[in-house]
Amino acid sequence: YIWVNPAYIELTGYALDELFGETPALLRVRADDAELEERMWATVNAGQRWRGEFRQRRKDGSIYVEEKTIAPVTDDGGRISNFIEITQDVSQRRRLEEEQALRLTELELLHELSKLAEKATDSQRLIAEAIALIRNDIGIYDFSVDLDDVATRAEPVDQPLPAAGAGFHPILVALQSGTRRIGTARARIPADSVAPVRWKVLGTALAQLAMAVERVGLVSELQRLATTDSLTGFLNRRALFAELTVEIQRFRRSEAPLSVLMLDLDHFKAINDTFGHAAGDFVLFQLAALIKNTVRVVDVVGRVGGEEFVVVLPDTDLEGARLAAERIRSGVTATVMETPAGMVRITTSIGVAELASGEDASNLLLRADRALYAAKRDGRDKVVLAASADAASS
Ligand code: GH3
Ligand code: MG
Ligand code: MG
Repeated sequence: YIWVNPAYIELTGYALDELFGETPALLRVRADDAELEERMWATVNAGQRWRGEFRQRRKDGSIYVEEKTIAPVTDDGGRISNFIEITQDVSQRRRLEEEQALRLTELELLHELSKLAEKATDSQRLIAEAIALIRNDIGIYDFSVDLDDVATRAEPVDQPLPAAGAGFHPILVALQSGTRRIGTARARIPADSVAPVRWKVLGTALAQLAMAVERVGLVSELQRLATTDSLTGFLNRRALFAELTVEIQRFRRSEAPLSVLMLDLDHFKAINDTFGHAAGDFVLFQLAALIKNTVRVVDVVGRVGGEEFVVVLPDTDLEGARLAAERIRSGVTATVMETPAGMVRITTSIGVAELASGEDASNLLLRADRALYAAKRDGRDKVVLAASADAASS
């Protein structure tokens, strides 16, 4: 610099004698601006005007955006003697533009989040997808959401922005659904002039995310309530039928065998009459545990009536199913059930059927039920194999 005007002195905070003899590198903020500066000099040294923007640092350390026009001045011989530079502080304009862009992002982000929420069935997956979306759209770092953490001391999202440290605002906020804390979010927000807007948009996004997570939880809980029996934890009749239908479709593709057991407790009315309905429920609860421990993990159990159960056995032929049924039957017979009214012994009757090709769920269950009925007629505490599909339909 050989001269600057008073406005430039005011803009930069440097006195005239401090700038005298210095180059604009004095105000440079970032190392990569050096490259921009080189291009600028190349342009003006070639006799052309250059126009561009620099982020500059004032004497007090604060940063502003300078829009600079620089033109070469030539002497009588046509040689460049010096340069004239006109600069303007455009920080304010830049900040407003960035804020504007972020606010547009906010609308888009909310729209994207609601689309995610609509199709979400799993809250962890929803969170993972939302994190990627929010992080990129808002421009924040190390963003994570922890649904297990509802205890760490954290600020609600509508608090003022925490003080910046090392160029970032460290964020630790409570994810709230209404007044209920459902998790903790962490992030770092760059400490620039639009940080407060980023913070506000993050708050809106987290509120939306909390609602979505809550909704996914409610939907899966409703789903569970609608498909399972609360006493035994087994599928209810409708859900068992749906599951069996799915298994049958799979069977058709794989040609692996598939069998079902239909199980009914013997003289259960008498248990209720003698020991009371509550004791009957205790027996059912223990029977459920016994069945669960006897069948394989892949087997599907449903409570299809008060004391009637169906077990679907994938990859199991009639003989395999008979063995499974026999294990359950003998297990029940050998078990003394505990009830508040005393010890109780019970027995079960089981009908077994293997899926025939072309057969549907209803017909398979019908054949198993007939076999069960035959077991009852034959004296109970028995396993009976179903007649072939042809015999059942005739
Ligand atoms: P059978 O050997 O012929 O099956 O005789 P049963 O007495 O078991 O007759 P049935 O299967 O027709 O009757 C079922 C009885 O089980 C009727 C009802 O008293 C009882 N029961 C059904 N659901 C429940 C339940 O949820 N809890 C209790 N405690 N009892 C139930
Ligand atoms: Mg019964
Ligand atoms: Mg019954």
